Amino acid sequence: MALIVQKYGGTSVASPAHIIRIAEKIAARRAQGFDVVAVVSAMSGETNRLQALAREIDPTPSPRELDVILSTGEQVTIALLSMALEAQGCAAHSYTGAQVHILTDSMHNKARIINIDARRLRQDLDAGRVVVVAGFQGVDEAGNITTLGRGGSDTTAVALAAALRAEEYQIYTDVDGVYTTDPRVVPEARRLERLTYEEMLEMSSLGAKVLQIRSVEFASKYNVPLRVLSSFEDGPGTLIIKEEEGMEQVQISGIAFNRDEAKLTILGVPDQPGVAGNILCPIAEAGVEVDMIIHNIAEDTTTDFTFTIHRNDYDRALRILQDTAAALKAREVSGDDRIVKISLVGVGMRPHAGIASKMFRALADEGINIAMISTSEIKISVVVEEKYLELGVRALHSAFGLEL
Ligand code: ADP
Ligand code: ASP
Ligand code: MG
Repeated sequence: MALIVQKYGGTSVASPAHIIRIAEKIAARRAQGFDVVAVVSAMSGETNRLQALAREIDPTPSPRELDVILSTGEQVTIALLSMALEAQGCAAHSYTGAQVHILTDSMHNKARIINIDARRLRQDLDAGRVVVVAGFQGVDEAGNITTLGRGGSDTTAVALAAALRAEEYQIYTDVDGVYTTDPRVVPEARRLERLTYEEMLEMSSLGAKVLQIRSVEFASKYNVPLRVLSSFEDGPGTLIIKEEEGMEQVQISGIAFNRDEAKLTILGVPDQPGVAGNILCPIAEAGVEVDMIIHNIAEDTTTDFTFTIHRNDYDRALRILQDTAAALKAREVSGDDRIVKISLVGVGMRPHAGIASKMFRALADEGINIAMISTSEIKISVVVEEKYLELGVRALHSAFGLEL
């Protein structure tokens, strides 16, 4: 029988009434003869609440214990959804990530899935039951509970779909597809019919939280189409697929942004071979990921070096850089954790010159200063002050005619 894997995000399971509605949708699919695996998130706001609770005890809780508490949010919704299904006469079993045996590495709070043992789920499906799985979590070799990073239920769903060789992956959320940009920031944003994995990978990695990036990586690796749909209304949603010849190529398919950015600069570092490594190695050893880098050409015997990191790592990275500055006899360290990154994404930008200059002009016309720039074949990113985020995204959306 054809198997569908569906994922329902936090707003889709926000209350018992929501859960009952989702159960009706699943039961209807089951009645059509499909096998269904449903992956659910915690009720909206719950993961934040659990995180805040942990921080009341310890502002920097142990990552292992944080995973133990965070994983409980999803355990509540799987039980409620299974109960709702059973109450509607649809047989169902719920499982936590550890029960399924979603094996991950041991990187607490951002674990990666290594393997999924789908046997138990298969048995349930063969017995005619809907299987409800807790998103966002797994277990490591040693039996510790792990979580997959914010938005990780998307990845659970896609990984399960790949493991079970599902016909379709369906991600149900609170918007009816992937838009040209976040419709909450630009009301004129337009739903996209189709998008390539490559474009969605860029959109996700650049901050469009509608899909967690790892879910898109999985979908692309196994080449299975991914459809983003609304939990609340029927519609075609957005289909994310492999790039095909003859696919209509718009220059810019979307604008992504990321509010979680911070930048650090080390000024007046004696310029010598190995300086970049000396600055970044201690940062990397502390597990802090570096995104953009600008290394100025030395005018005298010293140089300046700027890089961006996740805002949560700002204080830690600042302290490390101050130690490095002392060791390297640099002049000073400065930083700013009130910056954001705005990016234009589109496979169609490859053959076109002039997109970057049009982008910079549109921002300049609004009086927005660009602090950093980075480009790849299918994206251009800029770093600007946080207060200009909405203005900048709207200006670019209109400059590139994305509402049309
Ligand atoms: P869920 O809880 O269902 O996983 P998320 O909040 O993680 O939902 O993701 C959906 C949200 O992503 C939308 O409500 C929207 O605000 C945001 N979003 C950001 N960029 C986009 C985009 N390009 N298209 C659609 N939604 C986007
Ligand atoms: N509940 C987790 C979060 O809020 C995982 C998810 O919703 O995908 O990030
Ligand atoms: Mg999400």
